[in-house]
Amino acid sequence: MRKKIVAGNWKMNKLADEAVALTSELVNMANDEVKGDVKVILCPPSIYLTTINKYIENAPNFSLAAQNCSDKVSGAFTGEISAAMLKSIGVEYVLIGHSERRQYFNENNALLAEKVNTALANGVSPIFCCGESLDQRQNEDFIGFVKNQISESLFHLSAQEILSVVIAYEPIWAIGTGLTASAEQAQEMHAALRAHLADKYGADVAEEISILYGGSVTAASADELFASPDIDGGLVGGASLKSREFTNIIKAR
Ligand code: PEP
Repeated sequence: MRKKIVAGNWKMNKLADEAVALTSELVNMANDEVKGDVKVILCPPSIYLTTINKYIENAPNFSLAAQNCSDKVSGAFTGEISAAMLKSIGVEYVLIGHSERRQYFNENNALLAEKVNTALANGVSPIFCCGESLDQRQNEDFIGFVKNQISESLFHLSAQEILSVVIAYEPIWAIGTGLTASAEQAQEMHAALRAHLADKYGADVAEEISILYGGSVTAASADELFASPDIDGGLVGGASLKSREFTNIIKAR
C-alpha cells in the first residue's frame, strides 16, 4: 500500500528566519490538524537543511530533501554538495532532475542516472522528476518522451534499488505557471508510467512505487488530483511557501 507523500520544493526562496518560521508553522498546523498517514517532505535550500532538521524533530511525519546533489562522490568540485554529505546531516531524500535543473543547468538523462546512483549508494532516496514541455505535449509522443526519461535515468537500477525511488511527474508547462494538468491528464501519464515500470520490474514492484504529481498544485486542485488511483501525492512549489495553503494540501485526500 503506497503512502501519500506531499513534498514542498521551496526553490531559491526564504531567508533564514523565514525558513524557520515557515517550518514551525507547518509543524504546528500538522500536529493540530493532519490526521492519517501522510509523509511530508520539505525541500528547503541546502544551506538551511541542518537548522530545519532540528525544527522537525518532533514531527514524525516530516522528512527533509535537498533540491539537488552532485553526481560526484567527493573532491575538487567547488560549490557542490555530495549525497554522502546530505546523509551525514540526516537528509533522507534528494530531488533529482527537476525541470529547472534540466533547463538552466543542462542536466541530461545520463548525468541524472549518475546522481541517482550516488544518492542510492549513500542511502538517500531520489525523488526523480520528469515531464514534458508544452511543445512536446502538442507535437510529439509526450508519453513516450517521459517514459524515455525514466528508462534512461532509472532502468539500470535493480528492483530492490528502484523501490527506494519516488517519481514526480511534473509537466513543464504546469510548473509555476498556474496551469495545472487536469486530474485526467495527470492520471493518464501516471498510469502509463506505472505500466512502464511494470513492464521492466513487474507489477508487484510497480505497485509499490510512489508517483507524485507536480505543477501548480493548490489546495483547491489537490483533492481531485490526489483522489486519482495512480497519483500518490504531490510535489508542490509556490504553494509550499505558504503554511496555510501547504497544510491544506497535506490534508487533501
Ligand atoms: C515545482 O517546483 O516542482 C513545482 C511543481 O512548482 P509549482 O507548484 O510552483 O508549479
